[in-house]
Amino acid sequence: MDNRSKWTAEIKAKAVELGFFLCGISKAEYLDEEARHLEQWLNQGFNGEMSYMANYFDLRTDPRLLVQGAKSVISLAYNYYNAEKPTDSTAPKVSMYAYGRDYHKVVKKKLLALFEYIKSFAGDIEGRVFTDSAPVMEGVWAQRGGIGWMGKHTIIINPKKGSHFFLGEIILDLELDYDQPMRDYCGTCTRCIDACPTEAIHPEGYILDGSRCISYLTIELKNSIPEEFKGKMEDWMFGCDICQQVCPWNRFSTPHNEPDFIPKTGLMTMTKEEWMELSEPLFEELFIGTPVKRTKYEGLTRNIRFLYDDEVKDHSSFEDIS
Ligand code: SF4
Ligand code: SF4
Repeated sequence: MDNRSKWTAEIKAKAVELGFFLCGISKAEYLDEEARHLEQWLNQGFNGEMSYMANYFDLRTDPRLLVQGAKSVISLAYNYYNAEKPTDSTAPKVSMYAYGRDYHKVVKKKLLALFEYIKSFAGDIEGRVFTDSAPVMEGVWAQRGGIGWMGKHTIIINPKKGSHFFLGEIILDLELDYDQPMRDYCGTCTRCIDACPTEAIHPEGYILDGSRCISYLTIELKNSIPEEFKGKMEDWMFGCDICQQVCPWNRFSTPHNEPDFIPKTGLMTMTKEEWMELSEPLFEELFIGTPVKRTKYEGLTRNIRFLYDDEVKDHSSFEDIS
């Protein structure tokens, strides 16, 4: 076995030891076709207020501009699936990925550990780690590295693990053995398209109008949520899991074993009434260190009021998130 194959096998074994449940490797190269798709998507305004998606177009489509001399992209998947359900089924919902500690920190620490390990045998190499933190087309690399295919809802699915996982990458100037891209197993299924309450997924699939997605409306959007979405949010106050919940491949999801992703005490037992009266100190207690902090107290309460303002006695004006 030459060094390349030996190192590839060692990297994959170490990834598993660090808790990643999938690892795939692809050649670092310019993303020609994907660059054209991204350009069309941006031209149609599907990024909504997420103007950062249009930034660093060149870096986004060529990893060799992120790491000089880059040869490989190592894609890794980290499970966040949690089968636990809130006890009050009428309570407003938080997307499963946001229950516990901010994944950026959890996953980045493991990516750095893997990169240090690689340097311990490969010597003085250049590289960078990423997890939803820089202009990297994570889904594209995951598909190219054989981690999964991009489903019609535009989320990466693995045929044995489902889609409830975070992605991370190490881009480095080390040649490794490359995996085969994963083929598409969506077939004739349209469950995610049919179930999306805001019609954010294109009728033919594979294109997401981000500006209509509940994840965007409840997390990214700084202004008021447009009235056209009234009654269509299906109780989601932070993110949305509907298209993943209906996907048949998620019958293969298994619970994570990451202590940092365990929800804070009290989060899953909050009632709808308690959410409607959420105080700032309780918000801090429930969400400190979690991705939900991103919306701040004002953002989350704006979302709750948008869901239930007909039921709230106080009809005073709702402030936009500044
Ligand atoms: S996350 Fe929700 S709103 Fe967004 S595409 Fe999926 S089902 Fe639609
Ligand atoms: S619900 Fe069906 S169409 Fe949508 S991503 Fe899953 S398999 Fe593909």
